[in-house]
Amino acid sequence: QFPFGRRLPCDIYWHGVSFHDNDIFSGQVNKFPGMTEMVRKITLSRAVRTMQDLFPLEYNFYPRSWILPEEFPLFVAEVRMMKDSDPSWKPTFIVKPDGGCQGDGIYLIKDPSDIRLTGSIQSRPAVVQEYICKPLLVDKLKFDIRLYVLLKSLEPLEIYIAKDGLSRFCTEPYQEPTLKNLHQVFMHLTNYSLNIHSGNFIHSDNVNTGSKRTFSSILCRLSSRGADVKKLWSDIISLVIKTIIALTPELKVYYQSDIPAGKPGPTCFQILGFDILLMKNLKPMLLEVNANPSMRIEHEQELSPGVFKNVPSPVDEEVKVAVIRDTLRLVDPQKKKRKDVQQHIESCKSKINIRYNYLMCYRCQTVEHVSEANEELLDAGPADRREYGTTKSPEAGLPSLCLKQVFPKYAKQFNYLRLVDRVAALFIRFLGVKGTTKLGPTGFRTFVRNCKLSNSNFSMASVDILYIDITRRWNSMGIDHKESGMCLQAFVEAFFCLAQKKYKSLPLHEQVKSLIDFCEYHLAALDEKRLVCGRG
Ligand code: ADP
Repeated sequence: QFPFGRRLPCDIYWHGVSFHDNDIFSGQVNKFPGMTEMVRKITLSRAVRTMQDLFPLEYNFYPRSWILPEEFPLFVAEVRMMKDSDPSWKPTFIVKPDGGCQGDGIYLIKDPSDIRLTGSIQSRPAVVQEYICKPLLVDKLKFDIRLYVLLKSLEPLEIYIAKDGLSRFCTEPYQEPTLKNLHQVFMHLTNYSLNIHSGNFIHSDNVNTGSKRTFSSILCRLSSRGADVKKLWSDIISLVIKTIIALTPELKVYYQSDIPAGKPGPTCFQILGFDILLMKNLKPMLLEVNANPSMRIEHEQELSPGVFKNVPSPVDEEVKVAVIRDTLRLVDPQKKKRKDVQQHIESCKSKINIRYNYLMCYRCQTVEHVSEANEELLDAGPADRREYGTTKSPEAGLPSLCLKQVFPKYAKQFNYLRLVDRVAALFIRFLGVKGTTKLGPTGFRTFVRNCKLSNSNFSMASVDILYIDITRRWNSMGIDHKESGMCLQAFVEAFFCLAQKKYKSLPLHEQVKSLIDFCEYHLAALDEKRLVCGRG
């Protein structure tokens, strides 16, 4: 550990909390810039909502959510409208403070008027969400799933999912919410950190029983009940990929700001914790994404009142050790070196083969045995040969990978959803100043002009008004006051607005796609022209 930083460069930096720990110019960091901000309850809800606007059916795995305080009137109006159209609808809502974790500050309500708007909401923004009243129960208890996902790279997008996860159980038998039981956290909230304080919490060394189990043990139970477990897994994979697709546009803005292209910098990867709730009909619903999932493999045991001891937790160990081990295997810098060396050896072998038969006999034998060994190999003399000749692959004897690649493996099925990514690429192109995340008025004008979006119906004065209107509204929401200008979400709103204006009759996602194609076409033509002029 280097709590005060470290001068010599490392291959891998394993940061405790976020990307911003110190200046890093090479290697790999286990955090992406901006990830902590992106998975906060409000930011995640906004990012998913943008995708819900474009692809409502594909993104119906996230409960309907409103952002407080600014959307409180909208929340009241929409709930009233839905109740009017369906009087039998008796919803429950869950209020979650932004940036909270471990169930902190969460409460359930039956009606928008129950929201504690006094002070706390004003000073502490929150998300209010439709409460999933009919979760799948096991042993009459509500539970959720924690799945570990490795975002190995943003560009190109590479996603891995761990084959096993954790199931965290409530400690009071579940009943659908009523005014009487709304406050019973041990019945409604699955957080380990809360339920551990219940007298009913069961620590178990067996992965099939207790208040924390492996997800695979639940799948076995479901499979024996005749459930379609394969379909469930494929729904979960699709939920994970779609959620990451919702996060990538803004992550790319943060990335280019912290690690500008063309300058020395590290690459990033990150282990994320996905919290998923299964509905009674086995549909997985996303609860939240955790940028710093706990990797503890111990739990606290109260030996006597107030006296705690850390004891190993076999369930945590089984799942988490594999996740960390495989993450290191996948990002292993030596692996890439070994691959390069192997290619080098292969090419040398063929050359040597032709010119120096005698050398080949001596070397090839070594080479064959050490295909995965060290890069010094080709220069190795007899002493080294002895050492390397018996070197086994560092991965020999390790279990097969628990992390399974799902992207780009399933890219073909999901690439059509990546529209906002392309909008973000336009946004980044016009940001101008390196290190910034917001677009100034000149950048926005240049975007409109270069993409040929202004015409007699849409003058440059209207462009300025659009910029000012949207930027002012987004900045008044108090998201990020550090920089002035238009954030990506505001740009996306402006872009959707322009798309609707230009392609009136199409569904929104087709309007947006058509406008992206239009902009990309004009920018490519412009680049071509500049290239020709440059040559001239
Ligand atoms: P935190 O970050 O504080 O843990 P979560 O969003 O994970 O916040 O919510 C805490 C718990 O509340 C979840 O583990 C889950 O049991 C329950 N929960 C959250 N949202 C919903 C929902 N929409 N419907 C039903 N239960 C929910």
